[in-house]
Amino acid sequence: MNVPMLDLSEQYEQLKPEILRVLDEVMRSSRFILGDYVKKMEAEIAAYSRAKHGIGCGNGSDAIHIALQAAGVGPGDEVITTSFTFFATAGAIVRLGAKPVFVDIDPVTFNIDPRQIEAAVTEKTKAIIPVHLYGQMADMEAIAAIAKRHGLVVIEDAAQAIGAKYHGKCVGELGTAATYSFFPTKNLGAYGDGGMIITNDDELAEKCRVIRVHGSKPKYYHHVLGYNSRLDEMQAAILSVKFPHLDRWTEQRRQHAATYTRLLQEAVGDLVVTPKEVEGCYHVFHQYTIRVPKRDELQAFLKEQGIATMVYYPLPLHLQPVFASLGYKEGLLPEAEKAAKEALSLPMFPELKEEQQRYVVEKIAEFYRHFV
Ligand SMILES: *Cc1c(COP(=O)(O)O)cnc(C)c1O
Repeated sequence: MNVPMLDLSEQYEQLKPEILRVLDEVMRSSRFILGDYVKKMEAEIAAYSRAKHGIGCGNGSDAIHIALQAAGVGPGDEVITTSFTFFATAGAIVRLGAKPVFVDIDPVTFNIDPRQIEAAVTEKTKAIIPVHLYGQMADMEAIAAIAKRHGLVVIEDAAQAIGAKYHGKCVGELGTAATYSFFPTKNLGAYGDGGMIITNDDELAEKCRVIRVHGSKPKYYHHVLGYNSRLDEMQAAILSVKFPHLDRWTEQRRQHAATYTRLLQEAVGDLVVTPKEVEGCYHVFHQYTIRVPKRDELQAFLKEQGIATMVYYPLPLHLQPVFASLGYKEGLLPEAEKAAKEALSLPMFPELKEEQQRYVVEKIAEFYRHFV
């Protein structure tokens, strides 16, 4: 049996007539840039997140960059974020001339540990970027309280967490703004790059809108340095077909997560640490990530059995060569470093079949019977 990490083909087959219809509509209209589908998705996704504004961007990385710039982050500023995330979170900080300050994670959730944020605040700190990793929101109440005490901006990197909830609050509700990615593999994926900023802050929203069109306002007059990063009209049209299915797909992900956890506990017990949903939180399981001993050997064994898995992420950001000049040394953020050695994400997508999950778990159990 072959179990891919994710398989988008079944979804496409189901949605094909609708997707081809909207693409044809866009092409016939000849409105390719910031047209009606972008406006529609900005309004719908903002409303879904209980936010006033949605600003479609070229991708999720630019969404972080634009939100930070609009919030006034620039040279000399420090931005506190987690070391255990995708590179884009920190790349945006550095490209604005600011300095990323990496803090460690909570080993249970893999998310930024609020207790370590407070200790990292200096008079140069301007913002915090919590990342809602794997689909579970970071401890936003604690983070919002720290931000309030110190007058900091909070930009939530919600690339993996559209639809997630924290004590009844949506992504972005407790922060200054949140950013989504519509990279094809994300829970709401386009057929190319795409991203969005959502916020309740009118002024911030307006700045973001201007920055994504070269800082042009009025047209051809430039008071700020922006660049070209807009959600593409064709991608927005595709998203308009997929978005109504998002909540159902999320529920399917959650069911698969529950199935994995039950099967793994039966088969290997405590040898494997399964993901924990924090009480009062709604995890959208962008990834189903376990902690395992002999991770690399297990991954190689599963690959031989036709099972794809991924390591998100093998090297924490504070140890990335490109950030060597920041002076972090191994051992400084032990939980992030440990997670990088133990985390393994299993195949996860709405159309995953229970027999595929059984096969994955059987093979994991077989590995530990024979090789440990
Ligand atoms: C995917 C992702 C991004 C970047 O999104 P792109 O659309 O690929 O630019 C940023 N942060 C996290 C945590 C992500 O998973």
